Amino acid sequence: MKNNKHTIATLGSHSSLQILKGAKDEGFKTLIITTKEREEFYKSFPFIDEFITLASFSDFPSIEDKLKEKNVIIIPHGSFVAHLGTEKNKNMKLPYYGNKSVLDWEEDRRQQREWLSKAGINVPKQYDFEHEPVTYPIIVKSYGAAGGKGYFYAKNKTDFEKKIIAFGNKKFIIQEYVIGVPLYIHYFYSPLTDKLEIMSMDRRYETNADGIGRIPLLGQEGLDIEPSYVVVGNSDLVLRESMLPEAYDMGRKTIEASRKLIDKKGIFGPFCLETIITPDAKFYVLEISCRIVAGTNIFTNGSPYSWLYYNEPMSTGRRIAREIKIAIEKNKLPLILG
Ligand code: ATP
Repeated sequence: MKNNKHTIATLGSHSSLQILKGAKDEGFKTLIITTKEREEFYKSFPFIDEFITLASFSDFPSIEDKLKEKNVIIIPHGSFVAHLGTEKNKNMKLPYYGNKSVLDWEEDRRQQREWLSKAGINVPKQYDFEHEPVTYPIIVKSYGAAGGKGYFYAKNKTDFEKKIIAFGNKKFIIQEYVIGVPLYIHYFYSPLTDKLEIMSMDRRYETNADGIGRIPLLGQEGLDIEPSYVVVGNSDLVLRESMLPEAYDMGRKTIEASRKLIDKKGIFGPFCLETIITPDAKFYVLEISCRIVAGTNIFTNGSPYSWLYYNEPMSTGRRIAREIKIAIEKNKLPLILG
């Protein structure tokens, strides 16, 4: 069936190819908002019907009226917050997939921690370092960092005192450093059916934290290498099946806590818990992303998990379009739009 009345639209960045391919597969018209430099690249794909080219993504509000006439549904991804900021996202008048009320909770690290803690999810210890003794090693995170930039590792107090000088007087938080495997779990929750799915998962490849292990300790000695957590890519990974029920349960708890803390609708659609798993098989959740994450791009053709649910190629982008299609058919679109 063609969903001719609505056009699925997004910014040409982050996971837009996956989102628009999924929308096309579900019978929607597709539209991309892009910039001059990226236009030719996006035009090389066959599933994008319409293009709007801006000088800069931050000009997005100037085309809202035009988009309204085209009956679009906007699918947000990581670049929406990065280029437009939380306020412009909240003020958008267009039909927007997802609950905008979660944006403030996601943006503020303290509120995020409150959300995860109230959900009963294990988070790394955070130190009120002026008032309590710190057990090392630690990771120091500047506020508002993105993709692991501006973090440093300290193995003891002397190390911390040396590095904090170069850090300047930026605001920061200190967390216990959790040694384990970083695993990012991609969930999808449908309020239409009250069903939660684990769509896929990825692990990040971070330079040079993941590269240091390639040099033996003896070879590292004297080199003064500092681990950096800047993300360069994502790779796939499946979790031990015995740990899957717990991963699933964390997703469910996150949804339930959001309904109590944020509003009745809570979080729905795609979201991601960023975890580190320690040798005793314990999950530590570092952060929550309240939308489609870039790691899902590994699975444009579906993942081992989505195959089990759907028996057909089902990316997170396509799952979003499927949800919108079902909501239209059931006359429940307002339930999933912010
Ligand atoms: P993004 O917004 O892109 O998710 P971010 O800048 O908010 O990134 P985090 O996700 O908090 O950063 O962390 C980036 C990386 O730093 C993680 O993938 C992980 O490797 C490392 N890291 C963060 N917190 C800890 C911790 N408590 N223990 C060990 N490593 C950590």
